[in-house]
Amino acid sequence: MSERVSESIRRIVAARSRGYCEYCRCSEKFATESFTVEHIKPRKAGGETVLENLAWSCFGCNGHKHTKTEGIDPETGEKIALYNPRQQVWSEHFGWSDDFTQVIGKTGCGRVTVESLRLNRYKEIGLAVAPRRKYCSWLNTFPTSVPGLRVIRTSSFKQLAPFLSTIQMTG
Ligand SMILES: [Zn+2]
Repeated sequence: MSERVSESIRRIVAARSRGYCEYCRCSEKFATESFTVEHIKPRKAGGETVLENLAWSCFGCNGHKHTKTEGIDPETGEKIALYNPRQQVWSEHFGWSDDFTQVIGKTGCGRVTVESLRLNRYKEIGLAVAPRRKYCSWLNTFPTSVPGLRVIRTSSFKQLAPFLSTIQMTG
């Protein structure tokens, strides 16, 4: 829901995310639906429309998060707050499977967020893989042991193909 978010705030939130969903790290370039400004603390819970409470989110993450603020850790059964992109560091709570098809929760916070926002809903189409590799190369965390890019199973390969050729392969 972004009707009360000004265009200037929207632009800042989008720019600081570099066009990536701050939860699942999918790229806006491949999204079929517009990304949105997400209230980390929901407005219903008193969350304000200020930069510290806003995240750039894909349609799917925004929809699954909705007004949730916490979830149950599948490993410990504990109730834990969802990941906060403004206060926490993504790589401390999440990682990727070797082939980049799955987001792995590394902490309780990571696990509840993977579950609650269904961050692995992209596994069926594989569209998240190439953007994630590119994101890692920006962060200089690209694991060189990863085998060749595997984007198979995608239903939109034609859409993805032009972008693939622009990715710098460092592995
Ligand atoms: Zn997302």
